[in-house]
Amino acid sequence: MQPIPTEFDTPTYRDVLAQLDAAAEWLSLDRNIWGRLRLPQRALCVTMPIRMDNGDVCVYQGFRVQHDSSLGPTKGGVRYHLGVDLGEVAALAMNMTWKCALVGLPYGGAKGGIRCNPKEMSRGELQRLTRRYTAEILPLIGPDHDIPAPDVGTNEQVMAWMMDTYSQQRGYAVPGVVTGKPICIGGSLGREEATGRGVVYITIEVLKHLGIEAKGTTAVVQGIGNVGSVAARFLCSAGIKVTGISDSSCGVYNSHGLDITDVISYKRSRYTLEGYPGAEMITNEALLELECTILVPSALSGQITEDNAKRLRCRMIVEGANNPTTRGADEILRERGIFVVPDILANSGGVIVSYFEWVQDLQKYFWKEKEINERLHEVITTAFNKVLEFSTSENIDMRKASMANAIKRLADAHLVRGLYP
Ligand code: GLU
Repeated sequence: MQPIPTEFDTPTYRDVLAQLDAAAEWLSLDRNIWGRLRLPQRALCVTMPIRMDNGDVCVYQGFRVQHDSSLGPTKGGVRYHLGVDLGEVAALAMNMTWKCALVGLPYGGAKGGIRCNPKEMSRGELQRLTRRYTAEILPLIGPDHDIPAPDVGTNEQVMAWMMDTYSQQRGYAVPGVVTGKPICIGGSLGREEATGRGVVYITIEVLKHLGIEAKGTTAVVQGIGNVGSVAARFLCSAGIKVTGISDSSCGVYNSHGLDITDVISYKRSRYTLEGYPGAEMITNEALLELECTILVPSALSGQITEDNAKRLRCRMIVEGANNPTTRGADEILRERGIFVVPDILANSGGVIVSYFEWVQDLQKYFWKEKEINERLHEVITTAFNKVLEFSTSENIDMRKASMANAIKRLADAHLVRGLYP
């Protein structure tokens, strides 16, 4: 195989590539297709001069990467974070390709990002940055081409600005250009909660498989953003005791179970978990090592490493975040018999309901929330059980089984479409 081009060569890209290589080798994948899938189809780097509130002009860097469009338009979130670089965005775009293929959506994978700290920016600065970024990537996006969505550091307001900027250029409203937007401009009921909801649907399937009673069992959630907070809430509704949860600066722990609604409202009003009464404060590192049945990493990538994997005291991991587990850690978890549901399956609820949103926008016909949640349940549990069956019959772990299923679908599409020209 060709060496990784220096532009993409980052730890996250190497981890994602290692997962592809392991599954491709196991599948004895056609080497031409394998080589093709190791690199993204398109990558755009942009820079954006933004007028800050104090009058200065600050130049930001952004990216949009489309990994593979053989199954349909590309799809994937936009991330605002200081750690964003081309290699990370390319890795996450590749992840989206596998995710969409695995759960049977007619999409390829894409990802976008801006290197910035949205927490330190005013609403006006964020709006100007988002609009200029959208203008810069305009040639690449569109409802039939590439459809952005929220990711780390972005939300439905950011999507509304993207939709508006794109629509202003076209001269009419184009709701299908982004998903995860507010309901009043064509967003879907259930989209905001979809990723966390999907994580819990999967968790319940794993508990059934392992023969563990949900009621009274314990869970620890890393992250209290869109995915972590919703997952924690629904875990509690399923009778599971959430004993620990964290934000980017610290975690809270209570062996009797936390009052999650209260923790979330504390975080919302004070923007931090620090000082939360009725729980012990712990570090994010210690939180991951708490004894529990279910561990849900739903923050950033690279959290479960070769170093801490041997100290984890959970029975199963449901990856709410993208790439939370490094390659080396994965092997340790496998040896230790910890059941891991990989990100491309565990957090696919978001893009599944994004797909429903896009379909509703294109048809201009909107569904009831109950129908959306039922369809999400059906798609995600069917995919989970298919992967579980495959992993059992082939005696491989859930990550390899997920990757193999996804890659097989892409390989079929590439083979039958052939090469252009
Ligand atoms: N950013 C989410 C993900 O990583 C959602 C992507 C989407 O809805 O297009 O899956």
